[in-house]
Amino acid sequence: MAAIREQAGKLDQTIFANFTHRPGEDLAAALLGIAPKGLSHVFYSDSGSTAVEVALKMALGFWHNRGRPRTKIIALEHAYHGDTIGTMAAGARGVFNAAYEPLLFEAARLPFPTDPDTTLAALEREAPAAAALLVEPLLLGAGGMLMYGADILCAMQRICEKHGTLFIADEVLTGFGRTGTLFACEQAGVQPDILCLAKGLTGGAIPLAATLATPAIFEAHYSTDRRKTFFHSSSYTANPIACAAGVANLAVWREESVRMRIAALGALQEERLAPFRADPRFANVRRLGTVAALDVNVPDPGYLAEMGPRLMAHFLDRNILLRPLGNTIYVMPPYCITAAELDMIYAAIAECL
Ligand code: PMP
Repeated sequence: MAAIREQAGKLDQTIFANFTHRPGEDLAAALLGIAPKGLSHVFYSDSGSTAVEVALKMALGFWHNRGRPRTKIIALEHAYHGDTIGTMAAGARGVFNAAYEPLLFEAARLPFPTDPDTTLAALEREAPAAAALLVEPLLLGAGGMLMYGADILCAMQRICEKHGTLFIADEVLTGFGRTGTLFACEQAGVQPDILCLAKGLTGGAIPLAATLATPAIFEAHYSTDRRKTFFHSSSYTANPIACAAGVANLAVWREESVRMRIAALGALQEERLAPFRADPRFANVRRLGTVAALDVNVPDPGYLAEMGPRLMAHFLDRNILLRPLGNTIYVMPPYCITAAELDMIYAAIAECL
């Protein structure tokens, strides 16, 4: 908040196309300092959805500008990447996007890795002709808080590497400590070609997103032939106030014991979640880092489960902001939450039925 106030008094907004400024430069440098190896360039936008749109465009531009067009995007079953047309197309189809179906491109869909061999075999088939694989590493968020192993993420990246297919990590939700490490990719030792960040980039204080890319992707768009330019940016690209918030957030990560706090939060969640593992009213009790989730056993599981709105009302009645995904209850608290507040949440979950 101090950084936001200070920056607002210096320079609140300027167009970023053809111009630059201190907070934009400082944040890009700081991000490249902590991002997985191999990423060298930063493109700013305004939301998680636009960060992923930019990633899709970078991937297609990469292949187009090198004169070897590949256009297919591979994505996971149950994926969620945003609400814009491109990100909806890459995401799972369902009630959210049925009305827009005619505008959505066809993505190659891999089964969720319940059976990893099937998922990896499907990727082997699709990768040679595909521009990119787009994945939420380790945790599919809006699709139902579904978790899969780092070994599978690693195997997916290896297959992409073998076929020259770009590997895009959508860490809009998983980034900045959510899964226990700064980025989920770290747990798999994976180096993405493109990395999408938003939400936690400014500590959640103000909208900002970044799409990080490798030298190869930058080079494909850098030419005396101006037709190869990555043309697009929008009015608020790299808004200085938002960038200043990002710089301050990364300083918190450097200077405070954020990693220890996140590990402690994971342990607090686990203690409270554990009793539900043996409770027959719930299934798939699971946790990854700071995120805990469990499914209520109902006859109509899924996002439209009849119980969803009633669960939310139950929690709101108790002053708790939990928004179940259908019959899936998940607890993804701010990192400043206290043990007593978590007790209150889990007491409300225990009595929700
Ligand atoms: N990707 C993932 C993995 C997300 O979880 C979200 C938002 N929940 C988005 C993209 C879209 O981000 P935004 O809502 O900021 O557009």
